[in-house]
Amino acid sequence: MGLRRDRLWPAFLALGVVCSALYAANVAAGLASGVIGGACVIAWAFGPRLHNVRPRRPWRLMTAAGVFFLTGMIIRPMLVEQPAPVAQLGDMCTVCGFGFFIAGLVTFLNRWGMDRRALLDGLIVCIGAALTSTLLFVLPAAAIPGRPLIVTLIAGLYPLLDTVTVLLVANLAFTTAVRQPAFMLLGAMMVLLLLGDLGYAIIGREGDVTGPPIMALPFLLAFTVGGAAALHPTASALARATPLPIQAWSLPRMLVIGPAVAAPFVLTVTLGAETTAKRLALGLGGAAIVVLLLVRASDAVQSHVAAQRRFEHQATHDPLTGLPNRRMLSIMVERLLTEDKPVSAANVWMFYLDLDGFKLVNDSWGHPAGDQLIIDVGARLRQALPATATVARVGGDEFVVVQRCTEPEAMANARRIMECVERPLVVVTAEGSTADVVIGASMGIVQSAKGAVQAETLMRDADTAMYRAKESGRNRWTVFDASMRDAVRERVEIEVALRAAVAQEQLSIAYQPIVAMSTGRPAGAESLCRWQHPVRGWIGPNMFIAVAEDSNLISALGAWVLRESIRQLAVWRAEGVVDDDFWMSVNVSPRQLGDPAFAERLGTTLRRAGVPPANVVLEITESVMVEGSDLTERVLLELRALGVRISVDDFGTGFSALGYLRRHPVTGVKIDRSFVNGLGSSAEDEEIVRAVVAMSSALHLAVVAEGVETTAQRDVLQSLGVLLAQGWLWGKAVDPATYAATWAIRVATPAAVRSD
Ligand code: C2E
Ligand code: CA
Ligand code: CA
Repeated sequence: MGLRRDRLWPAFLALGVVCSALYAANVAAGLASGVIGGACVIAWAFGPRLHNVRPRRPWRLMTAAGVFFLTGMIIRPMLVEQPAPVAQLGDMCTVCGFGFFIAGLVTFLNRWGMDRRALLDGLIVCIGAALTSTLLFVLPAAAIPGRPLIVTLIAGLYPLLDTVTVLLVANLAFTTAVRQPAFMLLGAMMVLLLLGDLGYAIIGREGDVTGPPIMALPFLLAFTVGGAAALHPTASALARATPLPIQAWSLPRMLVIGPAVAAPFVLTVTLGAETTAKRLALGLGGAAIVVLLLVRASDAVQSHVAAQRRFEHQATHDPLTGLPNRRMLSIMVERLLTEDKPVSAANVWMFYLDLDGFKLVNDSWGHPAGDQLIIDVGARLRQALPATATVARVGGDEFVVVQRCTEPEAMANARRIMECVERPLVVVTAEGSTADVVIGASMGIVQSAKGAVQAETLMRDADTAMYRAKESGRNRWTVFDASMRDAVRERVEIEVALRAAVAQEQLSIAYQPIVAMSTGRPAGAESLCRWQHPVRGWIGPNMFIAVAEDSNLISALGAWVLRESIRQLAVWRAEGVVDDDFWMSVNVSPRQLGDPAFAERLGTTLRRAGVPPANVVLEITESVMVEGSDLTERVLLELRALGVRISVDDFGTGFSALGYLRRHPVTGVKIDRSFVNGLGSSAEDEEIVRAVVAMSSALHLAVVAEGVETTAQRDVLQSLGVLLAQGWLWGKAVDPATYAATWAIRVATPAAVRSD
């Protein structure tokens, strides 16, 4: 069925060609023209149904047009001998047909979204054609004396319809770049109608409105291709042809517009302008074309300028908040630093702020909520700060404010900025409900006298101060001073040296026992990294681990520590230094857990060393649970599946919440030193430890207390039900040989503490 449907249109074409040939040969001409005309009307009426073409409206209008065309064609020869108005009935039908036909095509054009430029170009071509037909046909026809008015009117109407058809053909060509068969057939039909009209216009010039039958041939052919267009499978695409972007001044366009623009001149030269009517037509037509060309040119320039502006804005502004971006900011800062203003107490102040807790919002409420939060913070900052201050967004959750102002003004700005960020924000959650969130910001502030530094330096210093603010506890600001630059330099030096240290294995590991408080004997040990710098001597991990984390060296370093600790454990197990239950606690940085192959690699290391996974405890920080991604979450689950244990280090210092512990696959917590420190003197610390113990026992988590230095602390811990502890009271972290000599199970009594 579908196949037969698809074959209808060539069959229709064949029928049309045969009928047209019969007509031309004057064999049953009346019948032939009736058949093809009727067939076309039927095709327009029912064809679109075959291919389920939507919408039907343009085709209904075309069908109406077809009915009028057909009627006109049939009655015209019959009424030729009748007096004036009756003889013109056929022509009147044709004119009505054109009305519907034009309406149908306009409907199509509207569907394609005719653009302004296509309309202008169509109008230029149309005026050129109108001018030509006025001078060639309309004026001569009107000048013929002694004709009934209706004849003159119709003679003048045909060229006008021509012109409108030209406009439509031109627009058709200009509006869409889609060239499917149905579209081409429709276009061919319009060209044929144009040719047919032209014929009538030519005879109309001589005063005739009815010509020889052969003049109807183009209309028959128009029926032929027009009907086929409605039957072609691509007819359904006609109504949804998407206009491709059209080039403003392409060569084909120029070829179509060129003659129209030249028309007034060529006509003046060839036909002369001896009558007032001609001069009027030429003057008006020429002027109209010039005006349209000017509009078109200024249109093109304007859209070019608008595109340029849009592009510039995009390159210099953040799309989310509409605030200047980093690039724009450095241009503006550079301008501020070099501008020539009378030197006063006003310096250039820069505020670099980084939101605290933004990632938490993003992770818990989804990215749209995060985006909304950024937009709101941007809007608040813009509103709270003076108009002379520049507010820019320079990174995911980083904003920069710059202003030339005095110190009191700057401090007022700083307070306003912090206030903007601390006020609760409302976000819409992924489920569609709203939630109040409270975030904070760490801010670095720096100032510069005129021309003292460059924009880049100012930004770097502000950034440095911001990091210092973050380090010293979030939600505060720090004013930059030169010593921070030295600290940064030192960090860079450490990073370079550490890179070499990792490569040259200047690192070593010290082991600190974790004891069962009841016996004072080690149940496990924590491996703690040590670095002997060739010049600076021993550098503590508190200094270099942070540097390693910032520079991503931590992955290599951490992998080495893990391998080495497991190797050491295997050796000690083999040598009988430790018993079978003894475990090794290894610190793991958040970055390491972001490696999807982490668990698999650890599994391989354990198998090769012959160490059971349960004898390894990985110490993670609370931030892994709070800020970790889906990926780290998966790695943690894989680690649990492998059988290694996971303990939360420094428990109680971060965002610790019961919820986090329940949601994550952890097996233990390590109570932070700071709480242990106060035991025996601070009732509050005792309460905290008591709460941690209660919670851990409910969740079946193992508890270790770290940093135990006194017997008083130990006694309180024991009274609170803590079983395991680590601290100088029993022993510092020592090198492996010292550890074995001190703590081996064969050694009956603990030896004296040697060194850390
Ligand atoms: P941490 O994991 O909290 O390690 C315990 C720290 O407390 C160690 O400092 C240890 O020497 C110290 N300590 C032990 N007992 C006592 C005590 O009774 N009193 C006092 N005041 N301190 C005690 P250390 O070795 O300087 O390590 C500092 C931090 O460096 C560690 O804190 C850990 O977070 C990190 N770290 C050390 N090695 C590694 C490693 O291999 N990888 C990673 N990612 N981090 C490491
Ligand atoms: Ca630790
Ligand atoms: Ca710790």
